[in-house]
Amino acid sequence: MVSADEWERTKVRVMAIVKHRVSFIPGDGIGPEVAEATRRVLEATGVKFQWDTVIVGKQAQDELGTPLPDQALQSIRKNKVALKGPVTTPIGTGFRSVNVALRQALDLYACLRPYKVYPGISTPFQGMDIVVVRENTEDLYAGIEFAKGASETKKLLDFVVDTTGTKLSRDSAVSLKVISQTGSRRIVRFAFEYARRNGRRKVTAVHKANILKLSDGLFLDTAREVAKEYDDIEFNDMLVDAICMELVRKPRLFDVLVLPNLYGDIISDLCAGLVGGMGVAPGANIGDEAAIFEPTHGSAPKYAGQNKANPMAMMLSGVMMLRHLGEKDSADMLEDAIAEVIAEGKNVTYDLKLDPATVVGTSQVADAVIAKLKG
Ligand code: NAD
Repeated sequence: MVSADEWERTKVRVMAIVKHRVSFIPGDGIGPEVAEATRRVLEATGVKFQWDTVIVGKQAQDELGTPLPDQALQSIRKNKVALKGPVTTPIGTGFRSVNVALRQALDLYACLRPYKVYPGISTPFQGMDIVVVRENTEDLYAGIEFAKGASETKKLLDFVVDTTGTKLSRDSAVSLKVISQTGSRRIVRFAFEYARRNGRRKVTAVHKANILKLSDGLFLDTAREVAKEYDDIEFNDMLVDAICMELVRKPRLFDVLVLPNLYGDIISDLCAGLVGGMGVAPGANIGDEAAIFEPTHGSAPKYAGQNKANPMAMMLSGVMMLRHLGEKDSADMLEDAIAEVIAEGKNVTYDLKLDPATVVGTSQVADAVIAKLKG
């Protein structure tokens, strides 16, 4: 029989060994490979994790009959932190996006994506260092859609004609763009708080308020209001089309961008392209109760199981996770190790190299990063 004191001492010892409980979600396609490579480098930092592996996506659909099982949500709610690989979303048919569902279920309202050019990456945009803060729960991604010919759609079309006089084709499908003051306020505050905590100098709100005067107009007005609370951080705003041009001309003009959902999605991929591609674009989806760290890229099904995909986007998401967990020194150490591997250019995947004869695979990149950590 173990005494109460002995049990307490055992608990303290176990907690000293296992520092962070993290939900681990390998994902679909290339997900399991890049997730495993990331887990290996995170463990090599010396930080202690207890991984709680849960499945979502195709594997969960096949084995448990749902792409987003309750066990996965419960695990993330309990641990508050998850490391996730990409998940396939079948287009048009099949299950709805697991990613969107996860963000909505856990109210992960902020998508945080740092885009930085690491020395050694072949891109004309050297020195670029931009953080994209994308609103995650509203806008055209709220999932409020009306199908062509459905009775609700007919009612909606009648309502629009009655209230605005605008004639809409009867064979229309409709997706609603919803922007709230509450949603705008919290994402803009998140961007300013991030800027303040991370020594950033400027926040730019991105919108199309010249055309979408009421929805994007509300986002912009709210951003201007919130900006007044942060007189230590510069603020400006830009139209989404204009910023696309300026980003590819003068990316160094920008620091932190805050955007509604759809523009955030598109600008994120643009920025990923500027810094060297999907293979080096990390991200996190963060709410008040939980945070999921995951790369920007998808499941790249054509490379699944081939040890070909670049694990660095997920490793850099792991760096973000370490910072979130308060492991700043380990985060800096891991980021430096990844940066050194990129700069040397010997152990990188196909997407970072022009000569296909000299590329290495996913697991060799992890080996190289671990060697830097240990060296
Ligand atoms: P993708 O990001 O999977 O692929 C786009 C391109 O980038 C492809 O050429 C791919 O081969 C390449 N690429 C992506 N990741 C790479 C990596 N780590 N290393 C090297 N090359 C890489 O986007 P897609 O093809 O539009 O989407 C495929 C699936 O992923 C879809 O089902 C989509 O819905 C899903 N998706 C999931 C997430 C997520 O889980 N967070 C994000 C985006 C897309």
